[in-house]
Amino acid sequence: MGRLFGTNGVRGVVNEELTVEKVTRLAASAGAVLGERIAIGTDGRTSSPMFKDAAVSGLLSVGCEVRDAGMLPTPALQLAVKRLSLDGGLMITASHNPPEFNGLKVMAEDGVEAPRDVEEKTEELFFSGGPELRPWDQVGSVSSLDAITDYKAAVISHVDTALIKGAGLKIAIDPGNGVATLAAPEIARRLGCEVHTINSDIDGRFPGRPSEPRPDTLEGLSALVRASGADLGIAFDGDGDRSMFVDETGAIQWGDRSVALVAKEFVRRNPGAQVATAVSSSRVVEDVVTGAGGKLVWTKVGSVVISRTMVDGGIMLGGEENGGLMYGPHLQVRDGSMAMALVLEIMARAGKPLSELLGELPSYSQMKGKVECPNELKQRALEEFQGAVKADRIETIDGVKLWYDDGSWILIRPSGTEPIFRLYAESSTQEKADHMVERHKEIVASIVEGLR
Ligand code: MG
Repeated sequence: MGRLFGTNGVRGVVNEELTVEKVTRLAASAGAVLGERIAIGTDGRTSSPMFKDAAVSGLLSVGCEVRDAGMLPTPALQLAVKRLSLDGGLMITASHNPPEFNGLKVMAEDGVEAPRDVEEKTEELFFSGGPELRPWDQVGSVSSLDAITDYKAAVISHVDTALIKGAGLKIAIDPGNGVATLAAPEIARRLGCEVHTINSDIDGRFPGRPSEPRPDTLEGLSALVRASGADLGIAFDGDGDRSMFVDETGAIQWGDRSVALVAKEFVRRNPGAQVATAVSSSRVVEDVVTGAGGKLVWTKVGSVVISRTMVDGGIMLGGEENGGLMYGPHLQVRDGSMAMALVLEIMARAGKPLSELLGELPSYSQMKGKVECPNELKQRALEEFQGAVKADRIETIDGVKLWYDDGSWILIRPSGTEPIFRLYAESSTQEKADHMVERHKEIVASIVEGLR
């Protein structure tokens, strides 16, 4: 049987891999699996209205009662599904992908992306020709839903508003022409911040910058922070579930440093708490969590795995190195605006600049790399690699992670989407991290060569 779902929903190039016909059948299949009451929303992509209408048609054909929330950040739709006790949700979005892409994220009744067994049942129906269609007097109905008002209030309710207002912070916000613009600036204003924005009009062509917030694409935000004298800057991805921070000097910060900052405060206030993150995350997260008396739970790479680990284990904080932060008391899924509010609260409470707060965290040097390997050889190559290398500790949660007693580590994991192995290394110096990646790239490449 074919597979539709990747690591986070279904994605494809518009009108090539992803067509109206496909979305209609996929939505009908998902509706038949999830249940009757389904919320739907979209990001700001040029093709999102087209795919939303297709998905609504599919849902109605199997008798669903559809709540149309319109354009909104993904976490706002997820919160509505959870709060209104709906049976599920469909978000039309390709998250941070380039503008020619679109996709669907399917949420279960708890608002978290659907577990794999729901995806499998949906795929089974899809590939068997689609679910049984309802007769004329049983087709579904559609009504509108205002999810964003509640969402903004919910985010604000999780932080100390008076404390943040008292700090009088100035923030620069870069929604990257995505739907975070519908929530983040207003939330910051309601928290008493002076708000400056860039790329804050919704435009599915993403003219301002690529939709994925990365250190190499946030020059504009960094310049705005410096020019406006802001205390911090924040950039969001296209559907508003991920965010990255810029400190008051204009320095762009990797996601796992902001995750570590929030984790440190969370464990301080919740003694012994568990925090979930993927094996590809920096040691800085583990250092601050264990240092504060908490426990780190390592997971496979991917936000859905982290969220599902949190749900299953009752874990209330999770994070990813790309800037995804899951704050369980609000939602056990990523939410960029919630991350913003939490960082504002930490800054207000500490009364220190963001660069100083992040500077207090341990610092490591990182390096990434990749090696080509045909998909069918990945498993054997990984087994051979594990047999060929030595380390002080070997972990196989996702790929093979080698730990050394000086605190360095390197992770080799097969990409789920491309015929490559990804390598991630971290060490006390850049030279060491670079060397680890180079050396292991050679080992992996020669193993792959030997298997061809
Ligand atoms: Mg996203």
